[in-house]
Amino acid sequence: LTSGLEAAWSKLKGEEVLTKENIAEPMRDIRRALLEADVSLPVVRRFVQTVSDQAAGVGLIRGVKPDQQLVKIVHDELVKLMGGEVSDLVFSKSGTTVILLAGLQGVGKTTVCAKLAFYLKKLGKSCMMIAADVYRPAAIDQLMILGDQVGVPVYKEGTEVKPSQIARNGLEEAIKRRIDVVIVDTAGRLQIDKAMMDELKQVKQVTNPTEVLLVVDAMTGQEAAALVTTFNIEIGITGAILTKLDGDSRGGAALSVREVSGKPIKLVGRGERLEDLEPFYPDRMAGRILGMGDVLSFVEKAQEVMRQEDAEDLQKKIMSAKFDFNDFLKQTRAVARMGSVSRVLGMIPGMGKVTPAQIREAEKNLQVMEFMINAMTPEEREKPELLAESSTRRKRVATESGKTEQQVSQLVAQLFQMRVRMKNLLGVMETGSIPALKD
Ligand code: GDP
Ligand code: MG
Repeated sequence: LTSGLEAAWSKLKGEEVLTKENIAEPMRDIRRALLEADVSLPVVRRFVQTVSDQAAGVGLIRGVKPDQQLVKIVHDELVKLMGGEVSDLVFSKSGTTVILLAGLQGVGKTTVCAKLAFYLKKLGKSCMMIAADVYRPAAIDQLMILGDQVGVPVYKEGTEVKPSQIARNGLEEAIKRRIDVVIVDTAGRLQIDKAMMDELKQVKQVTNPTEVLLVVDAMTGQEAAALVTTFNIEIGITGAILTKLDGDSRGGAALSVREVSGKPIKLVGRGERLEDLEPFYPDRMAGRILGMGDVLSFVEKAQEVMRQEDAEDLQKKIMSAKFDFNDFLKQTRAVARMGSVSRVLGMIPGMGKVTPAQIREAEKNLQVMEFMINAMTPEEREKPELLAESSTRRKRVATESGKTEQQVSQLVAQLFQMRVRMKNLLGVMETGSIPALKD
């Protein structure tokens, strides 16, 4: 895909502006590249149309060459095509959250089950996995072994018990043990059939999951989007998990799923190890598809301009002491958007070399913060004072985000420290006051 797109940009070298005429040939290259990457035809058509319309109507930006401008348009449209924002996992407001995994045989459901437990455990949630694939005894063993590796309990029963019964009993057990998240591993077939769908419907009915995630193999290309659509119509799903993106998949699945099915890709698997599961970031994926080099550095430059505008906005807020948790979240998201924390850290002079462990730690911290901020009410986000003044509120945020009250208190303190530090930076204040947290 990348090399196909590079052909497109190269045809614009030497042009002064983008016109209907001079984009025709690059657009043909883009169209071909997308089709070769196994993106479905209707999606390609719509994509090419949107990009062409925008490109032909775009105004000149000083210092930006037409090919770079086209890259930027394609980048932004790719991001939009994939749903724009990260689509977070949804947890129950209280009690035990159920995540139901569905999908064809061999796509990586059982692996995802363990990866997800590993991922959630790192976020401080207690997990349990339910082995509801009773067709192969080996499937239960596989989950038991993975459970051992992750250090997460697995609920199982005999292969003669109905999956919905196992799921119901397992959930009961988890609720009794006050487990935060239960992940249900189900059986897949080689192809969609009625028995599998009926079974999934039953399991869904008895467990009332907040997330029903279809696990799809990225190697199936545009077929992935059709599968997501079918499962959504049949059993109702909340999103997809794309696996095996480390293989020689051509990326078409990632590009088509959202557009065709209307359902977001929430997570992606990039390998067989437990830690190879991450949120699906549409802009990182777009960046990867477009390749690195000067192309991406341009996109970054463009982003920098946007950040500058954001920064000016931020500055106004700081001056009026209004830097709140919404800004905080925007900041952390901006960091995540930039591709990886490592690159950001690498760009800060004096940071020197950062170890992979430090990067993982930083990324984990960002995620933990997001969880806590997500658990705040809109009012609390805008007025952090509310949280500083009430330990009842801090306790509630802690419970809802699965963190400790101490972690929430730290976050609140951090926000006020940031306010003060920023004010000092701008020379607004000599010394700042950080409110002591009240009970
Ligand atoms: P299930 O039948 O859907 O439960 O699939 P499994 O979880 O048993 O996985 C089937 C095979 O795919 C196993 O050999 C896994 O190791 C492999 N697998 C799963 N996810 C990934 C991934 O993201 N990348 C790679 N390369 N292999 C994967
Ligand atoms: Mg399995």
